[in-house]
Amino acid sequence: MRIGRKKENETNSRTGRNAGRKLLLTAKKTGIHAGKLLLDLLYPPRCPICDRILSRREGLCCAGCEKKLPRVVGPVCMKCGKMIEREEDEYCEDCRKYAHVFTRGTAAFAYTGAMRHSVYRMKAENRRDYLDFYADAMAQALEPYLMRWQPERIIGVPMHWQKKWKRGYNQSELLAKKLAERTEIQIEGSWVSCCKKTKAQKTLNRKEREKNLSGCYILRKPEKCFRSVLIVDDVYTTGSTVDELARTLKKAGVEQVYFVVLCIGKGSGNGKKRVCTEQNVCYTKSESGYFHQRHR
Ligand SMILES: [Zn+2]
Ligand SMILES: [Zn+2]
Repeated sequence: MRIGRKKENETNSRTGRNAGRKLLLTAKKTGIHAGKLLLDLLYPPRCPICDRILSRREGLCCAGCEKKLPRVVGPVCMKCGKMIEREEDEYCEDCRKYAHVFTRGTAAFAYTGAMRHSVYRMKAENRRDYLDFYADAMAQALEPYLMRWQPERIIGVPMHWQKKWKRGYNQSELLAKKLAERTEIQIEGSWVSCCKKTKAQKTLNRKEREKNLSGCYILRKPEKCFRSVLIVDDVYTTGSTVDELARTLKKAGVEQVYFVVLCIGKGSGNGKKRVCTEQNVCYTKSESGYFHQRHR
């Protein structure tokens, strides 16, 4: 019995070794890096929108989802880059009402339906594999502006160390790195940091968000200064985060602060007490507290 099992184990390990060798040979022949091949076998690439496993022929997103992506197209706000209905308006309702600190920004997608779910999975379920698709879309959104903006440095929105430790990564920092590779603009990694543990922004209105973020960013290398800086973040809703970071940078002497985000909200962000989160939960503030409702 023992001998039988030993033989069986030996045969299994031989079969395993042979399979491994075959895999490496195929990898060598086809010129594919063995490590990448193994990683793909263990964690097959998935569509960032529907999360279906992608075949080798497909790119970073499946064809069905690609068609339905809520890309930012048509007339956009000349300040925040949000889609607007009429070109002659120039600015969105939000930017007509509030003076932003940043210079100008652009976004790849509207923060609706499928993108909300995708961003939620990326943050809550450690789906860092989506980031390449996000960075490609953001680089595409940036392309028409880069010549005009000419940012000298790229930075991701800093995250408090405790929050980063809990999540394991700062998605804005990772996106900034990927965008730096795609645009060849230098990243300024540890220039700014977040020194305040802020509350989650999702249930806060504009005023509350501003108060929550006030003074949360500090320059770790104040001797450095650049004329023009590009901020990278995943989602823009009221613009409070980008504004607060732009305020810190401008105080340090930066003249132009631009931003690029993956998704931009559609709402006016005018301090209404109704806030929609990435989990598609709609919070409405009432006298007795928050009432919430799931929606699509
Ligand atoms: Zn898909
Ligand atoms: Zn706007």
